[in-house]
Amino acid sequence: MFKVINPATEELLAQLAEHDRDTLARSTAAARAAQPGWACTALAERLTAVRRFGELLQARREQLARTLTAEVGKPIRQSRNELAAMQGRIAFFLEHTEAAIGDEIVLQSPGPPRLEERIRYEPLGIVANISAWNYPYFVGSNVFLPALLTGNAVLYKPSEHATLTGLAIAELLHEGGVPREIFQPVVGNGAAGRLLLEQDVDAVCFTGSYATGKRVAEAAAARLLRVQLELGGKDPAYVCDDVEVAAAAAALVEGAFYNAGQSCCAVERIYVHRRIADPFVKAFVEHAGALVVGDPLDERTDVGPLARRAQLEVLEAQVADAVSRGARLELGGTRRTGAGYFFQPTVLTRVDHRMALMREESFGPIIGIQEVAEDEEAVALMNDTEYGLTAAVYTNDRSRAERILARVNAGSAYWNCCDRVSPRLPWSARKHSGLGTTLSVAGIRTFVQPKAWHLTAL
Ligand code: NDP
Repeated sequence: MFKVINPATEELLAQLAEHDRDTLARSTAAARAAQPGWACTALAERLTAVRRFGELLQARREQLARTLTAEVGKPIRQSRNELAAMQGRIAFFLEHTEAAIGDEIVLQSPGPPRLEERIRYEPLGIVANISAWNYPYFVGSNVFLPALLTGNAVLYKPSEHATLTGLAIAELLHEGGVPREIFQPVVGNGAAGRLLLEQDVDAVCFTGSYATGKRVAEAAAARLLRVQLELGGKDPAYVCDDVEVAAAAAALVEGAFYNAGQSCCAVERIYVHRRIADPFVKAFVEHAGALVVGDPLDERTDVGPLARRAQLEVLEAQVADAVSRGARLELGGTRRTGAGYFFQPTVLTRVDHRMALMREESFGPIIGIQEVAEDEEAVALMNDTEYGLTAAVYTNDRSRAERILARVNAGSAYWNCCDRVSPRLPWSARKHSGLGTTLSVAGIRTFVQPKAWHLTAL
C-alpha cells in the first residue's frame, strides 16, 4: 500500500494497493492478448473512443480539477487551465492521426514487371508510459492518446504523486470505449516503474528527471526496447535592451512561477541586458512579490505548495549556495512555516554559473537573474548547460531574436513568449533534456513502425 498525501495540508487523501510483479505480469499478458484486436479495429472506432474521452473530461472537468489540485497542489485555476487545454490536444490528434499513419505509395512503376513500393505504419505493440505529476493530463496524453489511436496497448504508470488523476484518466478512457486490457493504469512508486520495465513491452515512454530517465534508458537498452524520454530542463530567457520592461517582467514572472515553477519548460534562469537590468529587476520583483501564495483550492492563489516535500531542501540548498557565492536575495528565499510544502517565490540577482541555481534544475518557485553586456554573452550563457529543452528571447526586433535563438541548442525557441507547448509543434529536446519526439505529426509517428512493402506483379 502507498499513501497519497495532500501537499498543501499534509493530510492523507487515499491509500492504494501497489502493483507487484505478479499483477504486472498478468496485466501485460492481457494487454499482449488484446492488442492485435485493437490494432485491427477501424481507426474510426478508436477516434470515437478518444473523442468520447474528451467529452467526458469536459463534462467532469471541475471534479477532475479538484482531484488534481488536492494531490499535486496545483492552484485550482491552473488545474482548470490544464483540463481546458486538453481539448486542443485531443482535437489535434483526432484531426491528424489518419493522415500521419496512412499508407504511402512511394513508387508505382508500370513495368514489366509492375512494381509498387509502399510504406505501411504498424503499431509498436505495448507501450509502457511512465509519467510525471506536474502536468499529468498533458504529459500523459502526449503519449497515451497517439499510442492508443495508432493501435497500441498502453500500460500507464502515473507518478505516485498523481495516482488519483491517473486512475481517473483510466476510468474516462474505459468509459469512452477503450477496452480495459488496452489501457491499464499501474499503481505504485518508482519500484513499480522499475518492474514495469521488466515486462514484455515493446516501447517505453518516460517523463521525469534526467537521473531516472538515464536509468530507464539503460534498462531499455539491455532489451533493445524503443525509448522516448522527456526529461528536465534549465530553460533560459534573455531580455534584450529594447523591450518594454514591465511587460517582459510580467511575462517572465508567469513563466518562472506558474505551477510553482514545476513545469518542464519553466523559465529557470534569466539573462538581462545591462542597460535595462535595474528597471527590469525592480519590475520583476514587484510582480513576483505580488503573487498570492497559499491554499491551492482558493481562487486567488497563484502559487501553491510543491508537490514533493524533498524539493524544499533542494531549493534551500540552491539559495544558500548562491548567497554564499555572492548572490543577492531580492525576494523570498525560505519555505513557509506551518503545514504544507510551500516555498516563497524567490528572486536572486548578482548570480553566475558557478552557482547551482544557474546550472541545476530547480523545479520550484525560484529564479536567478544575471546581467549580460551583449547578445554574444547571452548566447554563450544560454548554451552553457547540460540541458536543451526550450529557450526564450524578449526583444522588439524579431530578426535579432531569430538570430540569437538559431544559435541556442534547444528543442523549442520562443520569441516574446515562454513556458508554452503546442500540440501542432514537435516537443523534443536536446542533450540531457530528452530523446525522441511527442506532439505534432512527428509525435504521432513515434508510436508506429514502418513496414516497407515491395510488391511485384510478375
Ligand atoms: P522522476 O524521474 O523522479 O519520476 C518520473 C517517473 O518515473 C515517476 O512516475 C516515477 O515514479 C518513475 N520512476 C522513478 N524511479 C523509477 C525507476 N527506477 N524506473 C522506472 N520508473 C521510475 O521525476 P519527477 O516525478 O520528480 O518529475 C520531475 C521531473 O520531470 C523534472 O526533472 C522535470 O523537468 C521532468 N519533466 C519533464 C517534462 C518534459 O516534457 N520534458 C514534463 C514534466 C516533467 P514515482 O513518482 O512513483 O516515484
